[in-house]
Amino acid sequence: MKSKTTAILLCFFLGILGIHRFYLGYTKIGIIQFLTGGGFVIWAIVDFLRLFTGSLGPEGSVWKEEAEKAAQEAAEKAAKEAEKAAKAAEEDEKRKEERDKKMEWEREINDKIANVSAKELLESTSMLNVTKEIKKKEEADGNLSIEQRTYLERVVREKIEEEEQRLRSDKEFQDAVTAEDFEAAKERKIALGKEIVAEELRKKGRKCRDLERLFCTWCMFPDHCMEFVEGEAGDYIWEYRNKDGSKDKRAKDNYQSAGYRSEWLCKECGAKTTVQHDMNKHPSKDVKAWKVTLNTNGSGERFAEDWVNDGVFFADKNKAHHKGDN
Ligand SMILES: [Zn+2]
Repeated sequence: MKSKTTAILLCFFLGILGIHRFYLGYTKIGIIQFLTGGGFVIWAIVDFLRLFTGSLGPEGSVWKEEAEKAAQEAAEKAAKEAEKAAKAAEEDEKRKEERDKKMEWEREINDKIANVSAKELLESTSMLNVTKEIKKKEEADGNLSIEQRTYLERVVREKIEEEEQRLRSDKEFQDAVTAEDFEAAKERKIALGKEIVAEELRKKGRKCRDLERLFCTWCMFPDHCMEFVEGEAGDYIWEYRNKDGSKDKRAKDNYQSAGYRSEWLCKECGAKTTVQHDMNKHPSKDVKAWKVTLNTNGSGERFAEDWVNDGVFFADKNKAHHKGDN
């Protein structure tokens, strides 16, 4: 393959002998140029310029430089595509694994719910037993995603509705609800209705927890069921220190921030909850929480647990911070 650089050098030094034309494969023109002194020099100069502009190339082939470049580009493109394909395959595998896991999990829930009898279901606690069992599983296998929880709640609710529907048309049940059983049956129904509402609220509470917002650490009800009692900002800390170790606003973009601790009363169960909020330039009860703990017990059974954000960054006010550490 012919090199453009070689051709240009040949044309520059030996152009009046037509050597570049011989090199490029134009033998006939080469001989004419050789005999006419590069076409009275002018032809050699024109060839020299044409080599630069690209209008003169090797006879019947391409430049070596261009061929090499094209080959390299093709190789790079192939490598990129192979990498992309490998990545896509890996993602596919991951998606499949997740799907399998989800399906297995859903099967487990469906089995569990299928084993709850209609009678148990009408006793309002049975639904909670199911959710409790799932919760135990959650503790063993790690947290459930919002989707998984939503699925669980939907399946439980569907089952209850289905059973209620069935009981409404069940003659045995109708007969059982005689005058003396009527009050008890009504009460059970009311309790069940209350539990459905409560479960709805707990669902919202779990969402609050996922969004790092406040929830009742006793009954798991969401933030709007809570009443603010009191709160207090912690110590203010400079974000960066100066080179000499001192801390003030001479360091670029420096600012002070502080955490916030707040106390809340649950309007539903009467429990008190303490919330630790993230460091912020404007610390307040509205800043995201990193820790939510039970302070005083509420009434009834406890559904929620204390919560702490594992990924939280603790600021040490005695140590210097990131910038200017050298
Ligand atoms: Zn509560």
